[in-house]
Amino acid sequence: MYDLVIKNGKLVTPDRIYEADIAITDGVYAAFLQAGSDAPAKEIIDAKGNYVFPGIIDCHAHLNEPGFEYREDFATGSRAAAAAGCTTLIDMPLNNDPSLMNKEIFDMKMGLISKHSAVDFALWGGIVGDYDSQPGSVKNNMKDLVDLHNCGVAAFKGFTCPNGDLFPTVNMGNVRKALEILKPYNALCGFHCEEFGQVLEREKEAKAKENRTKEEKIRDFLDSHDVWTEYVATKNVIDMVRATGGRVHICHVSHPMVAQVVKDAIHEGLSITAETCPHYLGYTEDFVFEKGAPAKCTPPMRRKEDMEKLWDYVLDGTLSCVGSDHSPAADEEKDNETKDIWQAWGGLNSIQFFLPMMFDMVVHKKGLSPSLIAKVMDYNPAKVFGLYGKKGAFELGFDGDIVIVDPERPWKCSQEELLTKGHVSCFDKEEGKGAPVCTVIRGKVVAEDGMYKEEAIGYGEFVRPVK
Ligand SMILES: [Zn+2]
Repeated sequence: MYDLVIKNGKLVTPDRIYEADIAITDGVYAAFLQAGSDAPAKEIIDAKGNYVFPGIIDCHAHLNEPGFEYREDFATGSRAAAAAGCTTLIDMPLNNDPSLMNKEIFDMKMGLISKHSAVDFALWGGIVGDYDSQPGSVKNNMKDLVDLHNCGVAAFKGFTCPNGDLFPTVNMGNVRKALEILKPYNALCGFHCEEFGQVLEREKEAKAKENRTKEEKIRDFLDSHDVWTEYVATKNVIDMVRATGGRVHICHVSHPMVAQVVKDAIHEGLSITAETCPHYLGYTEDFVFEKGAPAKCTPPMRRKEDMEKLWDYVLDGTLSCVGSDHSPAADEEKDNETKDIWQAWGGLNSIQFFLPMMFDMVVHKKGLSPSLIAKVMDYNPAKVFGLYGKKGAFELGFDGDIVIVDPERPWKCSQEELLTKGHVSCFDKEEGKGAPVCTVIRGKVVAEDGMYKEEAIGYGEFVRPVK
């Protein structure tokens, strides 16, 4: 007698789609059986006509706890994630106070968030630098990196552009040092790549312009974060990989010119991986002009031809992961009436429509196989972030995570109904087809038909990298 059997579904893997029944016992995949097996189980879910994925991993999410719970906390962010089909999220170390930069903060953060996560979670640790500190003063956390690695963080994140005192920018000295320190542990270091000097100077110049309309300010904002800032920072970080032999992940690549640099580095044999996000694959500068403050993020959305070309790099495997980069805000911080693009919070409320948007784009708009989703949102993130062995594939003994997606089910984002704390999203009124109808984590149903289960809150567990 199995605990749970998902029957008659179409299992989606990176290579193929096939019909089979899945049996889960004691929280792990216990058997893969011929479709229609009638295997005895305490609970049976019929997935006929639907796709079945081994969960969805969001490798890039900001849930803001501790420190900015007025924007989002683990309960609200993770319940939205569960409803959206996400079974594991990897939480960022910033937009926190304190940022996750040493073992003491790790212990404190775990004590808070493990009480009320609705999905399994791993953590990014922080690399904080001393870009703008005076000679002799030390802000960086180089001495804490190995301890943090031993705590079980899945990766480390650093910021190459101006980012405020809570998470100081890394300079290339910090990047090089961090890679040297973490190389013996084969630990992964991810970077937000926009070059400090260009962003600082160009923003300063743009903000000094007088009598700008709302539209002109958006143009100024986009120009001050143009592709050259992302390109130069990415090249610099890749050079530090060349210098150290370290392992790097380039976060949220927005532009084909940047993706090409990553591709060349991978071909050279450097240990580089990279991700992009749904908003760079389906949305453009025009969307920022249309939506204003709610659509502000960095790097910003690019031109249509750049967006189209970015797909080539997802298809050829250069951009091997797709994360949400959910970075929530309080409603007033994204209010288009009272905030211009400079004053608005930079980050999107996206976690609840991350999978439906990708499914609609991949399967319905592009006519591609759902296998691409299993690749960039399951298998590859599990491999890159060390979760493979537990997560990311239909393998016996892996965690019994399941997302059942009805490929024809229509969805529409309505920001009033979001399960996140904030209710302003640039994706309000966006619609498409293909939505999760059931989310299962370690054999337990945590969400159904777009709504989380109350008992899921607190069920989510910390996932330590397997190696
Ligand atoms: Zn981010």
